Amino acid sequence: MIALESVNESKVAVVYHTGKVDSAKHLKIGPVPGESTAILPGYGIEYATCGTVRFKVKCENGHEGVRVNSCDRKECPVCSTRWANRRARKAAKRFWWIFENQDNHVSRSAKNARHVSLGIPPSMWGRPYLEVVKWATKALRDSLRSGGGLYVGHAWRFKDARGESVQWKHSDLNPQVVYPIIDSWAVYSPHVHFVIFGWLIPVDEFEAKYGCRYTYHSATPSELEVYFTIRYLLTHTALIEKHHSLIWFGKCSYNRVVLASEYKETVRALCPECHAPMLYETPEGTWAPWHIEITRRHYKFKVIQKYLEKIDPTELHITTPLRV
Ligand SMILES: [Zn+2]
Ligand SMILES: [Zn+2]
Repeated sequence: MIALESVNESKVAVVYHTGKVDSAKHLKIGPVPGESTAILPGYGIEYATCGTVRFKVKCENGHEGVRVNSCDRKECPVCSTRWANRRARKAAKRFWWIFENQDNHVSRSAKNARHVSLGIPPSMWGRPYLEVVKWATKALRDSLRSGGGLYVGHAWRFKDARGESVQWKHSDLNPQVVYPIIDSWAVYSPHVHFVIFGWLIPVDEFEAKYGCRYTYHSATPSELEVYFTIRYLLTHTALIEKHHSLIWFGKCSYNRVVLASEYKETVRALCPECHAPMLYETPEGTWAPWHIEITRRHYKFKVIQKYLEKIDPTELHITTPLRV
């Protein structure tokens, strides 16, 4: 199956990254309490076919590329970038649909969709990573009113030889590193990132209650901003076996919003650089219009018994005697 990447996704839509992770870099990643196999995306082992060329493509204006085989696994050194792109794209679409269609008008202003993170009190760092993440997500969920969103756990922060913080995009541990490249280490420092909407209690109040502060990063005022944020968060999450990398909660949880329909559609592939229609090279060596299959998803809110949800169970008077 050939899948479309967004036209907003720059060059990577056509030519996928095929750089491999140097095995020595594994040694620079700090151990994660309780999860000895935790790794960064792209730090696993690729399949023989990953990144091999399927066919050449070009657009009507001459931009060229190749279509490669991809396994779409998050641990694959060749395909993890594509995994993050696709996962983020799907999640951003779901988030934005819920955000725009949910019933609370107060939390529907675009500036209300935002990226926050939560550090963990150092006293808790020795606990197993998953337990710490669970604690953090509960603290934030319980502090969010009339909202919802998603979270991505991070086990590490990136530091240089002097212990100074290094941005992930400049870390040599990042297969997609951009200059300047900084020799760095993944130091265990658990924290959780959230993309949310709704009303969050003030940070001082939060600190008084939980002993740690959340950090406001930025507003995510469009589906595209949500996409960029999620993609960035996924590229350096801690992969834990049998656990999802991205979890929905509150108004975005799977028991509140369900997939109403999902269907494939065949469309003409467009050039990621100039949006012109694209062609692919056939096995016979001729060029033919390139069509790709995309997946469209429609969501709907699950009908819930609102009046029951809002009533405190202790105030619920049962007038009909219960049968024994
Ligand atoms: Zn792969
Ligand atoms: Zn082009």
